[in-house]
Amino acid sequence: MNFELSEEQQQIKYSVREFAESEIRPHVMDWDESQHFPEELRPKLAELGLMGVLFPEEYGGAAMGYIEYATIIEELGRVCGSVGLSVAAHNSLCSNHIYTYGSEEQKQKYLTPLATGETFGAWGLTESQAGSDASGTRTNAIRSNGGWKVNGSKNFITHAIVCNTLVAVAVTDKEKGNRGITAFIFDKSMEGFRSDHKENKLGMRASETASVVFEDCYVPDENRLGAEGEGFLQAMQVLDGGRISIAALSVGIAQGAYEAAVKYAKERHQFGRPISDFQAIQFKLADMAVQIECARLLTLQAAATKDAGKPVTQKSAMAKLYASEAAVRISEESVQIHGGYGYTKDYPAEIYWRDSKLCIIGEGTSEIQRLVIAKNLLKTF
Ligand SMILES: Cc1cc2nc3c(=O)[nH]c(=O)nc-3n(C[C@H](O)[C@H](O)[C@H](O)COP(=O)(O)OP(=O)(O)OC[C@H]3O[C@@H](n4cnc5c(N)ncnc54)[C@H](O)[C@@H]3O)c2cc1C
Repeated sequence: MNFELSEEQQQIKYSVREFAESEIRPHVMDWDESQHFPEELRPKLAELGLMGVLFPEEYGGAAMGYIEYATIIEELGRVCGSVGLSVAAHNSLCSNHIYTYGSEEQKQKYLTPLATGETFGAWGLTESQAGSDASGTRTNAIRSNGGWKVNGSKNFITHAIVCNTLVAVAVTDKEKGNRGITAFIFDKSMEGFRSDHKENKLGMRASETASVVFEDCYVPDENRLGAEGEGFLQAMQVLDGGRISIAALSVGIAQGAYEAAVKYAKERHQFGRPISDFQAIQFKLADMAVQIECARLLTLQAAATKDAGKPVTQKSAMAKLYASEAAVRISEESVQIHGGYGYTKDYPAEIYWRDSKLCIIGEGTSEIQRLVIAKNLLKTF
């Protein structure tokens, strides 16, 4: 068992850190305030291989594994949760769904431009009446002229407006429940497919979240992902990988909040001493550091399991649950250590706190992670 990143992994970590510090950090508060989605980062993200982290070079990807992926998302999250979330959603949801279940033609046509960073991808599972219970999907696809006519809508979709490619699921056979849901690839040139209302959010404000609408949208059968009725199962497996990235994002947000707290605790003087001299503050910092280590270890364990090609549902749910809840606790403590200044936008503590909250909601809430974990452990014993 080796707990160290390899030299190459260290290099990836530091090149992403350098990029995040120089190209992202100076803009974080402005982007958050104006809800600006920094699409202008796309060419730079592509140059670093961050738009196609997990995919083979033949599709324009960087051919890295989940350990590298988790390390990259952590480094982005350490500086800006929103950019971390965007890169995570692009890679592990939309692109990975096509990579895992797409035909060779679909990969050439859709994955390659996603992996080379020509376009952002989006992934649509959630609907107004189908959140935690994705089997409640109402968007439907009916066979028509050798393809499918799709009607319905999806909510809370990352990159709904900016994307060219969207993978979404629709009911193709109502009688079959979960087994009657099928995945399709949509592109913005399709008539009857459009983005709609952009959310005004508490956190992750620089990550674009909006709805998409399908109105008699014709999708050729060649855009069906895998077999009919496999869409729900595919989505659950895609989420197993996605949750590793949300765990990594949580570790990054926690790390950023912790570093801000340590720095502030050393600078801020009260009662004639830096507040870091007070044991109450030291204990908070110690607890934060321990939780970050735990969260990182769980995340890298899930990543290593995924890289080994082993089942990862349980480990990714555990990593996501622990890391995201730790990120919320740690970023809240960071605000506390900053006192009244932590409550203002003059310091970064409050943004980490707001951003962290998404991590216990997106890609399955904490409650759903506990259900997944309990179901698995009861099955095992
Ligand atoms: C910023 C952001 C980005 C997102 N990006 C995407 C995206 O790109 N693609 C996409 O498809 N979705 C996306 N989502 C949607 C996200 O995955 C859902 O919001 C999430 O799965 C929860 O669904 P919901 O909001 O409908 O909550 P609900 O399912 O309505 O849950 C409400 C509450 O009830 C609890 N609950 C529900 N069922 C149970 C149960 N059985 N037992 C115990 N408690 C339960 C939940 O845990 C939660 O606390 C995004 C959301 C946000 C906020």
